[in-house]
Amino acid sequence: MKRVFCSDNFQVNALGQGTWHMGMDASRAASEADALRFGIDLGMTLIDTAEMYHDAETVVGKAIAGRRDEVTLVSKVLPGNASYKGTIDACERSLQKLQTEAIDWYLLHWPGSHPLGETLEAFSTLKRQGKIRAFGVSNFDYDDMATARGLDFGEDIVTNQILYNLECRGVEWDLIPWCRQNKIPVMAYSPLNQARLNFANLKSVAARHNATPAQIALAWLLHQDQIIVIPKSGNRARVEENSKAAIIELDATDLSELDRFFPPPDHAMPLQML
Ligand code: NDP
Repeated sequence: MKRVFCSDNFQVNALGQGTWHMGMDASRAASEADALRFGIDLGMTLIDTAEMYHDAETVVGKAIAGRRDEVTLVSKVLPGNASYKGTIDACERSLQKLQTEAIDWYLLHWPGSHPLGETLEAFSTLKRQGKIRAFGVSNFDYDDMATARGLDFGEDIVTNQILYNLECRGVEWDLIPWCRQNKIPVMAYSPLNQARLNFANLKSVAARHNATPAQIALAWLLHQDQIIVIPKSGNRARVEENSKAAIIELDATDLSELDRFFPPPDHAMPLQML
């Protein structure tokens, strides 16, 4: 499995797992936890969740019980809770649901109305207390990142989790280059555009690799430097399918065909978010 190196000398597997919409239906919680565990077995050891995702944190807690050390755990505080005290309290609730003593990366879900400096200070307190190992942000555009870096503790931001897939490539213009330059790995969320990606346009590349279109969409992200990819699946077969994207090597012909179907940006554009 390809590894991504982070500024704090930490390394993570480039292909992880998302959890949005897990835990919404109690009758599916056990199979969702099972799918996550299967993903860990297959090397998808970074698990992304958030306090916003209904009861997904509880599902994750069940999935990682007894194997916490194998996993890089990412969770997020809602912007509405991201005051100094609100962040500390939200983290405590997440730790309870996740049944763990520490979250590896704790992120601000998107920029909100509480001053970012307060959130970063709370993150720093949580880090000192050992309740989180490191912290970052999500849905931060180029300007947001530059501002954040200038604040106290801003230099400690380890990642920016953003919408990035073949159909949402605007971030390639300035945000991703800026993150690379500042050694901040990007986590690409909704890598399959929530299964709405135009899979028909991936069929010919997929056929050359004896792969599925979804695997090609993930392989395209994994091919790039310093990108962590977090597809969500609550289905064992699709978890296995997704894990195999890690062994696909796209060549120049594949990449230029994908650029034709899914053109890169030719100008700056605002960050899209879901
Ligand atoms: P994804 O692009 O990962 O797509 C998930 C959907 O695709 C699900 O419906 C899943 O269904 C389906 N799917 C999974 N694998 C395959 C496959 N091989 N072939 C066909 N369909 C497949 O979307 P998400 O929005 O879930 O993004 C991934 C993760 O990123 C989230 O779960 C969350 O952790 C994070 N995220 C973060 C956001 C943020 O604001 N920071 C916003 C959005 C997401 P099934 O489960 O039935 O397999």
